[in-house]
Amino acid sequence: LAEKLQDTFKRLKGKGKLTEKDVTEAMREVRLALLEADVNFKVVKEFVNKVKERSIGSEVLESLTPAQQVIKIVNDELTDLMGKAQSKINFSSKPPTIIMLVGLQGAGKTTTTGKLAGMLKKQGKRPLLIAGDVYRPAAIKQLQVVGEKVGVPVFTMGDKQSPVDIAKAGIDHGINHGNDVVLIDTAGRLHIDEDLMGELQDIRSTVKPHEILLVVDSMTGQDAVNVAEHFNEKLGIDGVILTKLDGDTRGGAALSVRAVTNKPIKFAGLGEKLDDLEPFHPDRMASRILGMGDMLSLIEKAQENFDAKKAKELENKIKNQQFTFDDFLDQLQQVQQMGSIGQLLEMIPGMGGKQLKNLDVDEKELVYVKAIIQSMTKDERQNPSIINGSRRKRIAIGSGTSVQQVNKLLKQFDQTRKMMKQFTDMGKSAKKGGKFK
Ligand code: GDP
Ligand code: MG
Repeated sequence: LAEKLQDTFKRLKGKGKLTEKDVTEAMREVRLALLEADVNFKVVKEFVNKVKERSIGSEVLESLTPAQQVIKIVNDELTDLMGKAQSKINFSSKPPTIIMLVGLQGAGKTTTTGKLAGMLKKQGKRPLLIAGDVYRPAAIKQLQVVGEKVGVPVFTMGDKQSPVDIAKAGIDHGINHGNDVVLIDTAGRLHIDEDLMGELQDIRSTVKPHEILLVVDSMTGQDAVNVAEHFNEKLGIDGVILTKLDGDTRGGAALSVRAVTNKPIKFAGLGEKLDDLEPFHPDRMASRILGMGDMLSLIEKAQENFDAKKAKELENKIKNQQFTFDDFLDQLQQVQQMGSIGQLLEMIPGMGGKQLKNLDVDEKELVYVKAIIQSMTKDERQNPSIINGSRRKRIAIGSGTSVQQVNKLLKQFDQTRKMMKQFTDMGKSAKKGGKFK
């Protein structure tokens, strides 16, 4: 999807003005791309119409950079579609808050129950997990393992009691042990079936959960929408947790689930590890689906803060592979003026999410970064490839840092070189659009 849309936008770039025909044509491709991404057709139709409405006419035509404006509109509408603000857990004013996680087998309920408990614990809560899946072999053990890893107790009564009794007893146990949140892991089925729905309804009416969160595998695309619709109808859900977004290349589920059920996506699962759970951010997801980061605000920010002449010099340096540590230092200072580095990197295509974490730029580290660069000789700054092991040691000692920190910076420098190259390429295409002078 990302590639498709980027192609479309590339075509729009470099145009002076957007005509109705341009918009229509672009939207046809957006529609195809969305359908291909397995987005619900009703959602696509609505979405395309909305964007079209907003794009054609004065709003876009009056703009200096029509392509950028369309990008922004598509981005805004995608964000709207997935819910404007990020949704949170509704905690009960009278603890414990009872959260029930439901969903099909393999969606990620047990894992997510553990992840969520771990997250809540970090926020200062005292969660308790209740093992309510008595059908799947080893489901209880699985929850116990997960609970142990995140340091949260697990209540179980084995697999001989009914889930309703277990849930009830578990909540009593939680009340007696001062737990302020209890999370009930429930059984799933391979497909939606009425037995399962009946059982979940029984649990619901007995324990009266404050939150019923539906766990949905985002890789299932269109199916995820049907599942969400059905659970919502039969059980009434308060929110959705989309799992396996790390593997979701199409983004269709995220797009449609919210629009079809009108329930917020509250969290996103981004991997198998127990800290791979994040609050769901519709704006970030929109950017991710567009595959281009928040290109527009990057361009705006760059315009505000970037000295054009310096940029030109830099561009030439990068082109000629002469970008040095001295420039890097310079660059860091400019970037600081623009806002946080994290923010900035997030806006650069392909640098969001996971990659950003790996890059791990901490602003407090800037102090060290400067110290390290200042401990380099002139030659080293101009030509970092000569910085071998013994030089690294010397630089570390000189700057009061460690060899690891020096290594890290050298790696970051390399990444920045690449990033800056991307940045100038982008600047060039924006210039053709007429605004970035
Ligand atoms: P349940 O049947 O709904 O309880 O699903 P499980 O919690 O047992 O998860 C099924 C599989 O999905 C396990 O192998 C999990 O590790 C995996 N899983 C769960 N959430 C995620 C996620 O966000 N990303 C990835 N990559 N795998 C996940
Ligand atoms: Mg399970």
